[in-house]
Amino acid sequence: MPSVIVVDHPLVQHKLTLMRKRETSTRSFRNLASEVSALLAYEVTRDLPLVYEDIETPLGHLRAPLLEGKKVVIVSILRAGNGLLDGILDILPSARVGHLGLYRDPVTLGAIEYYVKLPKELGNRDVIIVDSMVATGNTVVAAVERIKQGAPKSIKVLCLMAAPEGISHFHEVHPDVPLYTAAIDDHVNEQGYIVPGLGDAGDRMFGTK
Ligand code: URA
Repeated sequence: MPSVIVVDHPLVQHKLTLMRKRETSTRSFRNLASEVSALLAYEVTRDLPLVYEDIETPLGHLRAPLLEGKKVVIVSILRAGNGLLDGILDILPSARVGHLGLYRDPVTLGAIEYYVKLPKELGNRDVIIVDSMVATGNTVVAAVERIKQGAPKSIKVLCLMAAPEGISHFHEVHPDVPLYTAAIDDHVNEQGYIVPGLGDAGDRMFGTK
């Protein structure tokens, strides 16, 4: 069954509201993006498998849990996914990081790939694809297609915000991939922006408008 997980933690919701506000500065927007993404990453990694190891503490010994297996791979969709990387790496400091350059054709809104740099072996790894906004869904659909070619152990998508149209489209094509988001907004407008949303996430993060 396709799953959409809305992370409704009060801290996430509060910080997302601050990000949405028109008057929020680039600096605050960037800091908030890091904070929200760390909280979302906490949820996305909730079911990572554990192994048990015998350890000694200063006062005794026990079988204690550690994360199992190979390091998680975070795949950032350029460019707005990069604004979420720092927050995620704060809680997963050993993660490997890949980058996927996909831009939206301004007329068709289709995703066009222009850059790919991924860790060599994705097999046996858990992959978290990160993008700020899932609007039409075309970009994450293309990103998951590309990552599936590497046959990883698991794939999840993490975003700040999604639109119902994008979620439907995404789960028609990839019903097996869970999507984690802080909010589901009303709709996508003709220019491909989420309404009410927060505007252009890349421009707001990087101060390019
Ligand atoms: N990308 C953005 O930056 N904002 C949207 O609302 C949709 C896609």
